[in-house]
Amino acid sequence: MAGGECSKCGYAKNLSGLSFHHLDAPEKDFKLDMRSLSNRTIEKVMNEFEKCILLCHNCHSEVHNPALDLEVLSSSRLL
Ligand SMILES: [Zn+2]
Repeated sequence: MAGGECSKCGYAKNLSGLSFHHLDAPEKDFKLDMRSLSNRTIEKVMNEFEKCILLCHNCHSEVHNPALDLEVLSSSRLL
């Protein structure tokens, strides 16, 4: 349903390397992981799913930590 690949880089090798990223953090009600999926109705899961895109773990980390981008750090002479 989410395309089966990272929406940023296209990674599509292993499902364990993909996760849901909430586009608008304040709108996040719960994390979409196996524990959450097994404890909620399909309606609540689908409502949460609509707030997300699929990202690989590398792209997900980059989105959440832009200040740690090596190009940014090297241009600021922190490396
Ligand atoms: Zn990616």
